[in-house]
Amino acid sequence: MLLFISSYLISIFFWLWIILKYDKFEREPLKSILFVFIVGGLISSLPAGLLNLAFRSLLDQYMMNGFIESTNIKKASLFYAFVGINEETLKAIATILLIRKMKAFNEPADALVYSMTTAFGFSVFENIDYIIKFGFFTFFFRQFNAVPLHIGLAAIWGIGIAKAKFLHQGKYFRTVIPYLLVAMLIHSVYNSATIFFTPLFTIFILSAIGLFLVRFAIRKVIRYSEDGPFSNRLFCHSCNTVNFPDARICKKCGQKFNLEFYRLCPKCNAKVSKIAATCPRCEAGLYAD
Ligand SMILES: [Zn+2]
Ligand SMILES: [Zn+2]
Repeated sequence: MLLFISSYLISIFFWLWIILKYDKFEREPLKSILFVFIVGGLISSLPAGLLNLAFRSLLDQYMMNGFIESTNIKKASLFYAFVGINEETLKAIATILLIRKMKAFNEPADALVYSMTTAFGFSVFENIDYIIKFGFFTFFFRQFNAVPLHIGLAAIWGIGIAKAKFLHQGKYFRTVIPYLLVAMLIHSVYNSATIFFTPLFTIFILSAIGLFLVRFAIRKVIRYSEDGPFSNRLFCHSCNTVNFPDARICKKCGQKFNLEFYRLCPKCNAKVSKIAATCPRCEAGLYAD
């Protein structure tokens, strides 16, 4: 029991530390993170679990009755596709509902941080279910695949949340859907690996996908955070050189600075939202691109 609780706590500290570490210019308040972690995790994992169960019993029923040609691969593929769609959608909805109006959500990197926090909460609650069913060993096992998978996929639709808030006037539904579709697809493919490969190779593939996604997520958080309004430097994405905010090209490699969410005020060099008409710092008028 002690081993169980301490491993669980270590895992929670470790992953939250990874999620928060790279948003380095304006850290999120711990109480907002814990709120999103617990509430976001619960309101997404509970309905997702129930819907997965419901879909599975629906499949069982129809396939037994011969409505759909009953082959196991077909059944498993259908189920895994549903799981991907269901879980990604519920995590994204939970995140949007919780952070949309939150004061601390004030730069694009935060969209990723909170999306990953909800997804991590989801996986923590989901793990309890797995441990009950398959034993404690699965907990360690899932730290290398299911947990990074959830965190990494959240960074994909987190990009959509960042764009909805900072570029598209809060049009979450329309902006997030394309990113959500990509995450659903990866999630469904990931789940289906268990059908096609041997167990050992499956473990290898799943861990590789999970770790690749976490690496992608971390890089995205670093970039959004460096390009965000709370860093008063410009970071070159080609050669990593740090430049002063009055630079328009990198002093080392000559790359032009082109920020995804902000433009540089021509008068005072502040990073100003691309949808703002005037600079909030010096009130200079800005023209749309
Ligand atoms: Zn450079
Ligand atoms: Zn200005």
